[in-house]
Amino acid sequence: PKTVARIAAGEVVERPASVVKELVENAIDAGSRRIDVEIRGGGASLIRVTDDGCGIPLEDLPLAFTRHATSKLSSFDDLNTIGTLGFRGEALGSIASVADIEVTTATAGGISGSVLALRSGREDTIRPVARSCGTTISVSQLFREIPARLKFLKSDGTETGHIVTTVSNYALAYPEIRFRLTVDGRESLATSGNSKLRDAVAAILGRETSARMIDLSGNDGAFSINGLVSAPENSRANRTGMYFFVNRRWVRSQILSRAVEEGYRGLLTVGRYPIAIINLSLPPYDIDINIHPAKTEIKFREDGKVFEFVRRAVRSVLLGEAP
Ligand code: ADP
Ligand code: MG
Repeated sequence: PKTVARIAAGEVVERPASVVKELVENAIDAGSRRIDVEIRGGGASLIRVTDDGCGIPLEDLPLAFTRHATSKLSSFDDLNTIGTLGFRGEALGSIASVADIEVTTATAGGISGSVLALRSGREDTIRPVARSCGTTISVSQLFREIPARLKFLKSDGTETGHIVTTVSNYALAYPEIRFRLTVDGRESLATSGNSKLRDAVAAILGRETSARMIDLSGNDGAFSINGLVSAPENSRANRTGMYFFVNRRWVRSQILSRAVEEGYRGLLTVGRYPIAIINLSLPPYDIDINIHPAKTEIKFREDGKVFEFVRRAVRSVLLGEAP
């Protein structure tokens, strides 16, 4: 691949966890009920994501690796109402420019499945293969030809940690999907896909934590919130137990963390933080849509309104009042 392609790829592919994020998002967008993620060597040697989604039609397969080729956006107006996680059409092309990729896929209507391999961005011929409906994408030897980026990777343990976090976030955001993560041949996490957030939380944060969480739900006009929050006595010593999803995307937000903490005002000992898994649904109009792939920090059109909505919802459930 050309240098330009590699530089651009750096925007999407920062580390192995960014590859996992893009592949998992594609699997979710494909309507999958099961998503299996397998990694080796912190993801640098191998990342393999298998789904049971709609598959990639044979005629689209070569196109899937062309940057800015996407099947998900048909007009610019769609940007305001995107119902899919991906829409830029750059992930697969970017990954292919910095790693070897093999895609095995089959659609419901297809005569047979197909397999396509790209080594250092050079395409192989597409061969037929037998498989059930869905897609498997294997990414190996990430950054092999880019020593500067390879050097930037942290230890296998650290990179694995980032991947565990990424998969955990999606498993919490999509409790109706059965997720499994295997690290160097050992199962690291598995959710049931039974749609119950509490069960997904049990699989990821532990049964005991999950059993002690309090249901949160509420709405105000076009805003709605649901999730689980910890009883004040089950607090944590840091903020790592707070997860936020806005319109089903994992986001980072100071506004949201502070709103939750304000909801606990006077109920927690100083230096303790709540555990909270919070899904917010807001009209797209109220969100400053974030076009940059690497950023997860969300911006709201009216910070104060969102803050107060979340604070109040948390406060009232903790005090056992109707919101
Ligand atoms: P985007 O997600 O922004 O459309 P990507 O580069 O991530 O772009 O993917 C390119 C295209 O490849 C997608 O639009 C989709 O049509 C197809 N695709 C990728 N992964 C999958 C998958 N797991 N299942 C079905 N189709 C997929
Ligand atoms: Mg995508």
